[in-house]
This record gives sequence, C-alpha cells and structure tokens, in this order.
Amino acid sequence: MRFVFDIDNVVYNSIETCISAYIDNRITDVEDIKIPSSDDCYQFNMKDIMPDLGDNELQYIFDGDFFFENIILIEGMTELINSLHDKGHEIIFATFGLTKNVCKKLVDLRRRFPFCKITPIVADWGDSLSKDFFNMNSQPTIFIDDQTKYLNDSNAAHCIMFSQFAENSYDREWNKNWGGLKANSINNLEWVVAMILETEK
Ligand SMILES: [Mg+2]
Repeated sequence: MRFVFDIDNVVYNSIETCISAYIDNRITDVEDIKIPSSDDCYQFNMKDIMPDLGDNELQYIFDGDFFFENIILIEGMTELINSLHDKGHEIIFATFGLTKNVCKKLVDLRRRFPFCKITPIVADWGDSLSKDFFNMNSQPTIFIDDQTKYLNDSNAAHCIMFSQFAENSYDREWNKNWGGLKANSINNLEWVVAMILETEK
C-alpha cells in the first residue's frame, strides 16, 4: 500500500511547536501574556491563541530556526510511519508551505525518514491547491491529513482525517464537516489503517 502523510499537525505537532516558539520569543515579558493552549486553537491561522501576532510575525515563527530546532512531534506517529515502512509499504509526505518553510521541512524529513519520498509544494497560504498533484488514485493509497479541504480534494482510495485533539476533535475551522474515516489518536489511526489493509487483501 502507498501511504501519503501530511506533515503539519499529523507528523509535527505544529501548533504546540509554534506556541513554544511564541513563548521563547516573548520570554522577557512572558508574565504579560496568557500562555496559549493548542486545545483553544480553533482558527487555522492560530490568531485566536496568539492574538498579538500579525501575519508576518506568525509566519516568522512558523518558518523560523526555533521551530525547526525544537519540533514537537505527534506522539507515536514517527514509530507508526517507521513500522509501516518496515512492513514494505511506500511512504510519501505531501506538504504545503512558503519557500523557507518547505526547504527546512525537506532537510528535517530527509534526516528523520531517509527512506521516504517527499513532494513539497511551495505555495502562498491563499492559493487554492490540492495535494492530488501526483494522482493518488493511480495506485491504492491511504492519505492521512488533518484538513477537510485536502481530504475532500483528494481522489485517494482511502482518506483518513487525523486529529491531534482527543475531545471535541472535529470542531476546528480546518477539520469540520468531514464525513469519512477519522482517527483522533495513534491507536485509533493504527486500528483504521489495519482495517483498511485487511479489506484490501
Ligand atoms: Mg496539516
């Protein structure tokens, strides 16, 4: 089976990593700010948990060295990806980002997963692109992403919505209104993947 994994909030816990970078950037006046929690993040641009940041400052955090030197991972996802690879499955990562962000992701992913293929797309956040650029239906594929838009746009045989939030998981701006398969924990995801692999035998 071919697996296509999204990166942000599927492999990287990008919200937590951004929060950590945000606190680090404001360490001198940390008492003046409310420490945000990813559970309170409902907007894709994270403005609801970091309201004092402008677009450029947020982008600076997301692309910055602190982010890439201190990436917080989704617990258990690296192990799951490695075990799928060990069982002979093909692993591909598909991610969007501005140039700097995508270049840094490439370096990081190449180090973490030397066996993987990466199909990065440099795009402006406003661009309306799909991740189906390499035609996911050309062979049986399981596509795992945290955004309804990308899953809806995909023609992969199996699409799974992954949510890092254990409770009230599917009420965020980016993951609402998904009617397909869902997983809100690694155990859940392993179970859904095992079920699909069983039906594909
Ligand atoms: Mg994502």
